[in-house]
Amino acid sequence: MQPTAPETEFALIGRLHGRLGAIGQAGIERGIGDDAALWRPSPGFTSVICCDTLIAGRHFPADTRPADIGWKALAVNLSDLAAMGASPVAGLLALSLPALPTSDWIDDFCDGWMALADLHAVALIGGDTTRGPVLALTVTCIGELPHGTALRRDGARVGDGIYVSGTLGDAAAALPNWACRDEAWSAPLIARLTRPQPRLALGKALRGLATSAIDISDGFAADIGHVLAASGVGARIDAGRLPLSADLRAVVDPAQALGYALGGGDDYELCFTVPVASEHALCDIAARTATAITRVGTITSEPGLVLVDAGGHVMQVPTPGWDHFT
Ligand code: ADP
Ligand code: MG
Repeated sequence: MQPTAPETEFALIGRLHGRLGAIGQAGIERGIGDDAALWRPSPGFTSVICCDTLIAGRHFPADTRPADIGWKALAVNLSDLAAMGASPVAGLLALSLPALPTSDWIDDFCDGWMALADLHAVALIGGDTTRGPVLALTVTCIGELPHGTALRRDGARVGDGIYVSGTLGDAAAALPNWACRDEAWSAPLIARLTRPQPRLALGKALRGLATSAIDISDGFAADIGHVLAASGVGARIDAGRLPLSADLRAVVDPAQALGYALGGGDDYELCFTVPVASEHALCDIAARTATAITRVGTITSEPGLVLVDAGGHVMQVPTPGWDHFT
């Protein structure tokens, strides 16, 4: 049987509405179906808004499964909310497609989006649908947090410990092994690339504790660089402390693993700073949020990133992070 395509743009929107618009969120007064959605933030809360685009062949391999595209398009936005310490509320999806997709494609896409949206109660409340040269998805997410509790990039202070969640470099190591994506050894790395886990519980738990935070999307070295620049400080990072998964260490040598951890993108872990006097609170947070937290260095007064090996010798920072225009 031929897979069927919805006949019109409006049939496609109707399917997205039916599958993804049904999650209830108290503050949403009007979702899909009007010229704009209506949202009433909780009293005493600040709205948090972010937006990210994924383009086929650039942000994900063109033959990525639609379910993985759906998951990731939402996940990269939720990761930005996590890095602010926000609780997600809703999302908007601007979809640009070369042709109307088949019903199977839409169902599969919705399955992946929904698997994550359901976990965090994210309602789809609007979007736009257009024809374009390649598949491109722009997701806007809204969330909220109590006034004055946002985790910003500009609050790191000299002496603060620097921490990261989870492990680094897995997603970057998955890309060169994409052709082997169905093999058992590559599956855990591929999953890090296709199904990033936004650290929402951790971000929320860090409110009132972390002095700064950022999510790692372009590579650890580049992303911590944004925190250092915004905060007007520097960092000393112990290369040997960067958390590397057993899966990563099994497929590449230590130098390559370190290169992926420092320069590879797509990890969607959190990097944050905490005053050393409050460090003890992180044990409980790690347990409560079931998230590994590793201290990787210290904030210093000398601007810039200094990487040291186990013997304290300064190392070259291997690769710069991703920049779309260089
Ligand atoms: P307009 O012509 O005002 O832009 P549209 O016909 O594009 O309206 O959209 C109609 C409704 O469907 C709006 O509520 C819009 O937010 C929603 N919508 C359109 N495309 C999408 C999409 N890809 N995902 C979710 N909602 C969408
Ligand atoms: Mg429109």
